Amino acid sequence: MRIRKKPWADQFISDNEKYVTDEPKKYLGKWQERFEKQQPLYVEVGTGKGQFIIEMAKRNPHINFIGVEIQRSVIAVALKKLLNDPLPNLQLVITDGGDINEIFYPKEVAKLFLNFSDPWPKKRHAKRRLTSPRFLDTYKEVLSDDGNIEFKTDNRGLFEYSLTSLNNYGMKFEYVSLDLHKSPENEENVETEYEQKFSKKGPIYKLIARFNEAS
Ligand code: SAM
Repeated sequence: MRIRKKPWADQFISDNEKYVTDEPKKYLGKWQERFEKQQPLYVEVGTGKGQFIIEMAKRNPHINFIGVEIQRSVIAVALKKLLNDPLPNLQLVITDGGDINEIFYPKEVAKLFLNFSDPWPKKRHAKRRLTSPRFLDTYKEVLSDDGNIEFKTDNRGLFEYSLTSLNNYGMKFEYVSLDLHKSPENEENVETEYEQKFSKKGPIYKLIARFNEAS
């Protein structure tokens, strides 16, 4: 997602440190202090403008959520939405998803969401895909033993790449759908901005996978 630089974003972000941080390493081992209650932690990497994580946090007050986004101008839009209706169980973080093992302790995260990640279709950019082995290394570190990854996309090429990448990594699939919106699981589905836009044009693919055997 490319977005025009928003001159107001920097100031807006620093004025709202209670909900967003661009210095996440400061909170290593201290994330729970930023929430009202200590409870399981779910993280979305590539949160975009925040529609999914905000709705998830509203529906699941018994879980703490962190939305990770690399672009300041994009997360500033999510922050604006959050401030309209502040939630005690949602925090926003500006960082590269490839660094999450430097901001969370091993096994600290109970679930990771990757929604409509940038496809990076050129082979030479494959390392930038959020389901490439370099990212899986970091997810593996921070996910708890029962933790899993939920991934949705409208991009068939990225979905096929991700199935292969996760499978080659030795991950176990708990769920795979080639048309989420026509499956029974869609009843519980929370749509993202991209999902709303692209589901009109074709199917939405989803997988859930884990690093360890289910206990
Ligand atoms: N998840 C949202 C949705 O479904 O509407 C946004 C999808 S958008 C195509 C992908 C988002 O991932 C962009 O906002 C982009 O800046 C972010 N992103 C890409 N690479 C990232 C990375 N390495 N770490 C964190 N965010 C990243």
